[in-house]
Amino acid sequence: MPNKPRLYIISGAGLSAESGISTFRDSDGLWTKYDVDRVCNALTWKRHREEVFQFYSEVQATYSECKPNRAHEILADWQKRWGKDRVILLTQNVDLLLEKAGAEEVIHLHGEVGKLQCTACAHVWESEVRSDIRCPKCDSLKGVKPAIVMFHEMAPNYIHLSRMRKHTSKHDMIIFVGSSGQVIAPASVVPPNMFGSEHVISVNLDESTDDLFGVIGVHYIGKATEVLAELERDVINQFMGE
Ligand code: NAD
Ligand code: ZN
Repeated sequence: MPNKPRLYIISGAGLSAESGISTFRDSDGLWTKYDVDRVCNALTWKRHREEVFQFYSEVQATYSECKPNRAHEILADWQKRWGKDRVILLTQNVDLLLEKAGAEEVIHLHGEVGKLQCTACAHVWESEVRSDIRCPKCDSLKGVKPAIVMFHEMAPNYIHLSRMRKHTSKHDMIIFVGSSGQVIAPASVVPPNMFGSEHVISVNLDESTDDLFGVIGVHYIGKATEVLAELERDVINQFMGE
């Protein structure tokens, strides 16, 4: 008896758009108030440390007031129904809306608001986002930064994408939701033998995506809240065995 199929969901900023959080590329609000190259740059952040903390404390304050939308709830519900070993939630989002919707395990590929990270000793901990907080392990002050993956910085949780690429078979399904594919390109994370398969799905608002290699088998154009509800009814229940 083969293993039961697994469902990998890779979400991006568009998943949280209907919760009032602006996406990166259709930017407004917070993203335009700051120079992203100063506040999200691993090569230069220490020079602009106060501004970096100011930006991420505003991000945290803004995001903490947002509520999960129906799309977060649907994904959290899938994980509750079929378990975290079969429903793997990977997100590029630093907000915690999947967790707020009840998801038990979320892999944050680009970090999380509400955590700090010490670049001197690699410790990560939950904390207020304030520039005067020292690392509880090694007492560093200037080495402490918000635990968000910046440009030019390693993303340790990308190991989960490599594992997915290695262990996923044609019986499994991969769904990209609300991601433009410009930061995480589908071609770099989907196993080659699944390119173009109907088990590789994308949901976003773009008529055309950057899918040079024909990785996406089925592309739904529409709002995450609406398309995920349709997918659940027409595809997922049957795929997961109900
Ligand atoms: P992106 O901004 O590059 O692309 C957003 C995608 O979402 C687009 O393809 C757009 O068509 C789609 N979209 C917009 N509204 C949608 C909706 N209602 N339903 C479905 N799709 C919708 O985002 P990205 O690919 O995630 O890359 C940007 C980077 O910035 C990522 O690291 C991202 O996580 C980060 N970011 C995070 C947040 C957050 O934590 N909520 C917000 C902004 C940016
Ligand atoms: Zn430290």
